Amino acid sequence: MPTLLDLKQLIGSKSRPVPEEAHDAMLRTLTLQDLKALGSLRPLRRIIELHIRYRIRSLFAAFQLPCGETLDMMGSTGSIVSGSGALDIIIPGLRVPRDLNLYCPRGSAEAVVKYLASKQYIIQLPSVTWNNIKAGRLGRFNVNNGVISLHRFTHVTKPTTVTLVESAASSPVLPIMFFHNTFLMNYYDAREVRCLYPALTFKMIGLHNRSNGFDRLHKQSLGIKWERLGVSLLWTCETTHSHQAVAPSTVCSLHPSLCQRADRSSDDGLALRIPFKTTVKAATEVRLSWQLGYFRWATTSVEYRDTQVTVHAPATGAGMRYSNTKTAHKMLNWRVYWENEDDKEGRTDIANTSFP
Ligand SMILES: [Zn+2]
Ligand SMILES: [Zn+2]
Repeated sequence: MPTLLDLKQLIGSKSRPVPEEAHDAMLRTLTLQDLKALGSLRPLRRIIELHIRYRIRSLFAAFQLPCGETLDMMGSTGSIVSGSGALDIIIPGLRVPRDLNLYCPRGSAEAVVKYLASKQYIIQLPSVTWNNIKAGRLGRFNVNNGVISLHRFTHVTKPTTVTLVESAASSPVLPIMFFHNTFLMNYYDAREVRCLYPALTFKMIGLHNRSNGFDRLHKQSLGIKWERLGVSLLWTCETTHSHQAVAPSTVCSLHPSLCQRADRSSDDGLALRIPFKTTVKAATEVRLSWQLGYFRWATTSVEYRDTQVTVHAPATGAGMRYSNTKTAHKMLNWRVYWENEDDKEGRTDIANTSFP
């Protein structure tokens, strides 16, 4: 752990500097949180930046992709890497990523497809496009977990696959906010790595992000898979705190980094972020705000809130809300709840195949 690391061992001396490869060997098992702590020590900042780049280079190499060129492509298309690849950058060794998951803004898929084709990736047809987004009073709904199209690729000679997910909005992060738990809400773009729920993730805890049809979409075995890796997926944040002081159906502001009922946004300062390529200018980022989906069980009824994500227009800040269901909020008695189980409103058939 970082506190035990002798700074001199990492940096060396002027006459005998420690080579970069040795840094990578020493740092390779640390989590992003530990790297953040080390990087806050001024002499180590540059070493940490280089080491994260090493992790990203290794990940891309495993998928036969050149690092610099791929990051350039991500920068010019506004794409990000999420899923098990990003998880491997922030908690190394937990799971070997079998598939590289790229997410691009709406309208950028063609450029990414072209790039992958130039790197010996063959598109697997048919690609899938969803055009069933509806406009409602509260925003757009039936958004297929924020995904508008999905392309899969296999490498010509190697057994590696890439999945490209095109967001339904101008932010590539929209589909990530619909992931079924917070443990996977991590990604990197062309210049920095981000973990959106660090207060939970580095304790190996994930909060469920319930959306309509969750039980239908997410196989029971999914939870078991994570348990085996030592990750606890909590159905409700009330396992860690109580909401007695908070009126039902209102947004909770008591523990924003741990809570399903909190209002979060991409600039709220709660994410853990480490830039790894400071030479790249930070792109003007599309601001997102979101609330996770959850169930609140009471004696005679169940309150259900679907995941809601608002994408803010860069110029005006005006928000467009995205959710899988029209109302995104239901109060049901138990009988109605069970009868509505197969409600067709907000079908999200993509979730069980495209998400890690
Ligand atoms: Zn809570
Ligand atoms: Zn709370």
